[in-house]
Amino acid sequence: MILARITTAIREQNWFAVVLELVIVITGVVIGFQIAAIGERNARKAYEQDLLHRLHAEILNLEFGRNYQESWLTERRDVLVAIRPQIFGVESGDTLTSQSCFALIDSHQLIFPPDSLPALDELVSTGRMENIVNDAIRSSASEFLQKRDLARSLSRTALENVINLPEAFPGYLHFELVEAAPSADGDAWNRRAICDLGAMQRDRQFQTMLAQNIEHFRGILRFNYSFIDESITAIHAALDGELGIDHEEDAQ
Ligand SMILES: [Zn+2]
Repeated sequence: MILARITTAIREQNWFAVVLELVIVITGVVIGFQIAAIGERNARKAYEQDLLHRLHAEILNLEFGRNYQESWLTERRDVLVAIRPQIFGVESGDTLTSQSCFALIDSHQLIFPPDSLPALDELVSTGRMENIVNDAIRSSASEFLQKRDLARSLSRTALENVINLPEAFPGYLHFELVEAAPSADGDAWNRRAICDLGAMQRDRQFQTMLAQNIEHFRGILRFNYSFIDESITAIHAALDGELGIDHEEDAQ
């Protein structure tokens, strides 16, 4: 219809009408492009906001799980480090507490922290990382991903090399069952950890294997926890800033 009107105006040499029709056509096209661009921008912004909220919720869960496991692991590491001189015979002592003996029996129980952030993995796998406008979030997130790869390869090595001491030295440390008041699930027995400190003090091989397990504990706490926690804290702070979240205010 517009084309017909322009053709008629040209035929009648009505140049004012020709210019007017062309202006109408061009303006229409420009407005159409702008509406499409605004729509696309809004959709991108909505996706980004949804993703950042999901990522924030995942980080809260991750921090909770990591903190819980880290405190357990730290406690075990501290017990093992404290009794090491006694096992090596460089400090006196002829008995081990029940807590120390439990820690020795479990010294192969390495607990690796949760480290998955599905919202972040989704961003990377779909190639939409550039959708995140906030520089601090982008840089801390890519630092986290790099560190996580390193920590995961270290944890694989630790798992391959950690030694199950009660399996390797059944004569030195084992559990026995003692009667106890029934627990909620009906179990009327408790485990008691039994350790032969003298045998451990005379055995260099045992001491070396224990020292290696202790180093695995320390390595996990240093790399899989503290090292990665720095990046998680940085992502969290950047997210709080972007989303306007104040946890201290929420807690009051
Ligand atoms: Zn937060």
